[in-house]
Amino acid sequence: MKVFISFDMEGVAGIVDWSQCLPPGQPYEEGRRLLLGEVNAAIDGALAAGATEIVCNDSHGAMSNLDPERLHGQATYVSGRHKPLYMMQDLEAGADVVFMVGYHGSISGESSILSHTYNPSVVSHVTLNGARVGESGINALVALACGVPIGLITGDRQTAAEADPFLADAERVVVKESFTRFGAVNQHPEVARAGITEAARRAVERVASLRPPAIALPATLEVHLQTADMAEVASWVRGAERTGVRTVTIGGDDPMAMFRSFVAVTYITRQSEGR
Ligand SMILES: [Zn+2]
Repeated sequence: MKVFISFDMEGVAGIVDWSQCLPPGQPYEEGRRLLLGEVNAAIDGALAAGATEIVCNDSHGAMSNLDPERLHGQATYVSGRHKPLYMMQDLEAGADVVFMVGYHGSISGESSILSHTYNPSVVSHVTLNGARVGESGINALVALACGVPIGLITGDRQTAAEADPFLADAERVVVKESFTRFGAVNQHPEVARAGITEAARRAVERVASLRPPAIALPATLEVHLQTADMAEVASWVRGAERTGVRTVTIGGDDPMAMFRSFVAVTYITRQSEGR
C-alpha cells in the first residue's frame, strides 16, 4: 500500500500570514514546524491502516520546507524546484491513494487564508468543466491520468468546500475557519493533527471503494489571467488557446497533457507579471 502525499503550507492550522510560509525568519521556522506536524500526522494515520510506502511531495514555495530526517515512516521526500508535474511530481511512478495536506482556497473563491491559484500575481480565476476550481481540482487531473483516487484533503473550510465537485470521495479535515485571507480561527495543532491522523487512517482503510476524481472527459480548463498581456504570453504554450481578452482555454481528453499545459502557463506567465 503506497501513499502519495502532496503537501502545501497555507492550509495548515496556525498559519495565517505569508511570513510563516516564506523564509527566512522566526515566523517561517514556526510555520515549517506546524507543517511537519501535519504531514507526519497524515503519515501516522496511513501507517496505522497498513500503508507500507510513503512518498511526500513538497509543493510549496521553493519546495524544500522540511527537514528530511524528521519525516515519519521513512518517507521518500520529493523536494526542490522545476518539477515537471509540480505539486503532483512522482505520482506518475504510481500509488494506491493520494493525500492533499495543508491545501488552501482558490484566488476567486470565498475568503480563505492566503488563497491563490498557483500564482496570485497572474491567475485571477480558473474553472474546470464550468465549475470554479482551486489547486485541489487542477492537481486532480494528474490523479485521474494516473488512475489513483484522492483519499484525503486538509485545510480550511473553504478548501474542503471547493474539493466537493471533484474529490467527492476524499476524507476532509477542516483545521481552521478563515474569516478573511489573513485571519482565521485555528484548531490547536495537536487537535488538527489528531483529526488528520484519524482521517488518513480511514482513507487508507476505504481505499478499495474510492473512485478516481470526478472530472468528465473531454475536459475544459479555463484560465483567467490578470492582464491581456498575460493571456497573450500564455497562448504561446502548447495546448493553451486564447479564448478571451484575459483568458486561455486548455481542453482535451488527456488530463496529463492538460495539467502539463497548465503548469507551463504558470511558468511562462511569470515573464509578464509587471503591471
Ligand atoms: Zn503554498
